Amino acid sequence: MYDIIIIGGGPAGLTAATYGRRAGKSVLVIEKNAFGGQITWSPKVENFPGFLSISGTELGDKLLEQAMEQGAEVELEEVSSLSLEDEVKTVHCLSGAAFQGKTVIIATGARPKPLGLPGEEELVGSGVCFCAVCDGAFYKDQDVAVAGGGNSALQDALLLSEKCRKVTLIHRRDSFRGEARLVEALRQRSNVDFMLDTRITGLLGEEQLRGIVVEHGGESRELLVTGLFVAVGHEPDLGAFSALVELDSRGYAVAGEQCLTRTPGVFVAGDCRSKTVRQLTTAAADGTAAALAACEWLDA
Ligand code: NAP
Repeated sequence: MYDIIIIGGGPAGLTAATYGRRAGKSVLVIEKNAFGGQITWSPKVENFPGFLSISGTELGDKLLEQAMEQGAEVELEEVSSLSLEDEVKTVHCLSGAAFQGKTVIIATGARPKPLGLPGEEELVGSGVCFCAVCDGAFYKDQDVAVAGGGNSALQDALLLSEKCRKVTLIHRRDSFRGEARLVEALRQRSNVDFMLDTRITGLLGEEQLRGIVVEHGGESRELLVTGLFVAVGHEPDLGAFSALVELDSRGYAVAGEQCLTRTPGVFVAGDCRSKTVRQLTTAAADGTAAALAACEWLDA
């Protein structure tokens, strides 16, 4: 049985693993997809202390290497549920595997939000994408659109402008939520167009995206693109744990700075926690607080 099982191998989970190990606890990190989490989708990270500029995948690799160097064990599994019996917490995985721990830190992050358009789900992977780093190369020399006005959309548009013939950045308001420096960099690119105050109202194509319908000032028109990169924020996925943690109105886990949930021995850290600032640094901070709270709970 592990002292601490961490569900989610992003910056919050891997930081928690490092802190747990340094406190002498046995630690298992379970990740369903890619260690490093969402950050592995960022081509360039320039706001993580200590690094002038580093790719998201490299930063993810470094976080994993650090946790493993400290002795954390890792598993690639998708967790389906968490059950409690006396003091023992059992983490069940889709594969049928199960792991037991004295404490659990839920650090499952958040997943990309869709636009919610008819046909969107069916076109994922056939023109509709959520990750420019992963899929951008498939759209080399093609015309694409990016939806959103936050840092993810701005970074996606920048990255795509290096590969694609034309990138149209579509945002529902007239000002961006993301950093001004990124907006300025985009304005310097001759193959980037901005469509502000514009909504995407439809997708064209059944098996393969061939365009989108946009609405601006009450008028609709078609824009022919082969790729639509959706970067309109994230939503948490805490369904498997909803009986053990309190959720806010947007589905994020309610927990204070110490990351305690209403279930003794179960903690929550990172982007899946209800809070106002979701950054790499705040995810790492949560991982620290949750690991130390778990150690305190184990030592009590
Ligand atoms: P975000 O900052 O929440 O931005 C989401 C954007 O999508 C907003 O501009 C929002 O519009 C728009 N949007 C939301 N729902 C929409 C809908 N249904 N239709 C059309 N547009 C919609 O999300 P994010 O860009 O994914 O960033 C999340 C966090 O990660 C942020 O704190 C960001 O700074 C951080 N981040 C950091 C880096 C880095 O390099 N360090 C990279 C990426 C992201 P409104 O503005 O009108 O609400």
